[in-house]
Order: sequence, then structure tokens, then C-alpha cells
Amino acid sequence: EIDVRGLHKSFGDNEVLRGIDLEIGSGEVVCVIGPSGSGKSTLLRCVNLLEEPTKGQVFVAGAEVTDPDVDIDAVRRRIGMVFQQFNLFPHLSVTDNLTLPQRRVLGRDKAQAAEVAADNLRRVGLSEKAEAYPASLSGGQQQRVAIARALAMGPQVMLFDEPTSALDPELVGDVLAVMRRLADEGMTMMVVTHEMTFAREVADRVVFMDGGVIVEDGTPEQVIGNPRHERTRHFLSRLL
Ligand code: ATP
Ligand code: MG
Repeated sequence: EIDVRGLHKSFGDNEVLRGIDLEIGSGEVVCVIGPSGSGKSTLLRCVNLLEEPTKGQVFVAGAEVTDPDVDIDAVRRRIGMVFQQFNLFPHLSVTDNLTLPQRRVLGRDKAQAAEVAADNLRRVGLSEKAEAYPASLSGGQQQRVAIARALAMGPQVMLFDEPTSALDPELVGDVLAVMRRLADEGMTMMVVTHEMTFAREVADRVVFMDGGVIVEDGTPEQVIGNPRHERTRHFLSRLL
């Protein structure tokens, strides 16, 4: 479903991605781990063209994202993205946060969009907050709204960039539970995270990045449980 081939990305002289090859099959959950500055966010952002790769190819759901003639809006519609910061519109209710992009980007009418919004709020366990405003929600609830907003667009893949890093510890579990359910439902997911328990239990594969390359790519048992590379061991030892 996601296929990254020979991806390079530089910012000026700074070569941040130095040749990334990564395939994620349909329904697969891949967790990306690695130290700060290793290029994890840049990799995610290249997958949906928030950053333009310097070299290499990215395919998502059969379409080449890096094709110069690609309809980038069409590509982005297939890709849901959830960030550390939830970026909800503060002046809109939860429901309106979910319906606005559906109406603007997908051209759904109000009733249709509202129905999809309700379905997806149920999916993240927040039906009772439909008319609430973001400021009245906890960080964990806001992040679940952000996930529901992405799901309401009907994406084929979901990208998560440290979705729980900005949350108080006691709010992390609810968000991870929603992501776990999504994984169980068969969503294709690429998740940058420091949550090793989630990676161990939910990921089909774990990818360890360092210095703009993939150092290790394997099952959680391999990469977290029995890392082959010193750099991976060193990174993991600092997390524990
Ligand atoms: P963290 O764990 O801290 O989020 P990361 O692995 O996500 O780190 P990136 O955000 O991908 O790392 O950044 C990798 C490198 O790219 C860093 O050196 C960063 O300064 C640089 N970088 C990222 N975005 C830009 C940008 N828009 N312009 C210039 N440099 C950038
Ligand atoms: Mg990052």
C-alpha cells in the first residue's frame, strides 16, 4: 500500500534522508522509532508530500505520489495524517471540525458529512462530545477527534507522527486504544512513536531509523526484543 524507493531528502546542505526503502503492505502496521533528528517526521511528510523528496519515489495505494503530474489533492485524500498537535479549529464544534473538510475537499453535502462524522465519533468513543468545542476537551479527547476527522475522509492509509507525545501520561492510553482498534480493523498504518509497548503489541513491523537511514527493519520481537545493531541497542537502552 505504501512503497518508498530510494528516498532522499535534503534541506540545503543537510541530507536528512539518505536513501530510504520501505514497503508497507495493505493492512500492515509499521512503527517507526529512532532518535530525535533521525528523519522520522521528514519521512512521513515525504509520503504525503508535505515535503518534496529530493530524489526517489513514493507510491501510495498504487499511485506515484512523486510523479510530477500527480494530482496531489487526490493523493492526500487517500492519506490520513495525525500529528502531535491536534490542530482542531477552536471556533468550531467537534462535529463541524469533522464535517468541514468533508464538505470542502470531498464535496459531501451537510447531511452526508454529518452522518459520517457521527459514525467516526462513535468509532473513537466520543459521540457524547459531538456538540462540544475543542477547548472543553482533554488533550486525549482532542487527539481522538483529530483521528476521527482524518478517518471521516475515508483514507486508505493513516500516518501518525508521535500522536501521544504531547499528552499527559494518563491520557495516552485512550488514544493508543483507538489506534489499536483501527489496526485490528485492518487499517494500513505508519506510526512514529516512542510507545514501545504499543509497538511491541500492535506493530507487524518495527523500523529503527538513525541518521537518515533505516538501520533495522523487522518484527517487534526482532527489532525491540533482539536488536542486531549496536545503534538500535543503544537507542532502546536509553528508553528503558
Ligand atoms: P524528532 O524525534 O525530534 O521528532 P525526527 O526524527 O522526526 O525527530 P525530523 O523532524 O525528520 O526528525 O528532522 C530531521 C532533520 O531535518 C533535523 O536535523 C531537522 O533540523 C531537519 N529539518 C526538518 N524539517 C526541516 C525544514 N523544514 N527545514 C530545514 N531543516 C529541517
Ligand atoms: Mg519528528
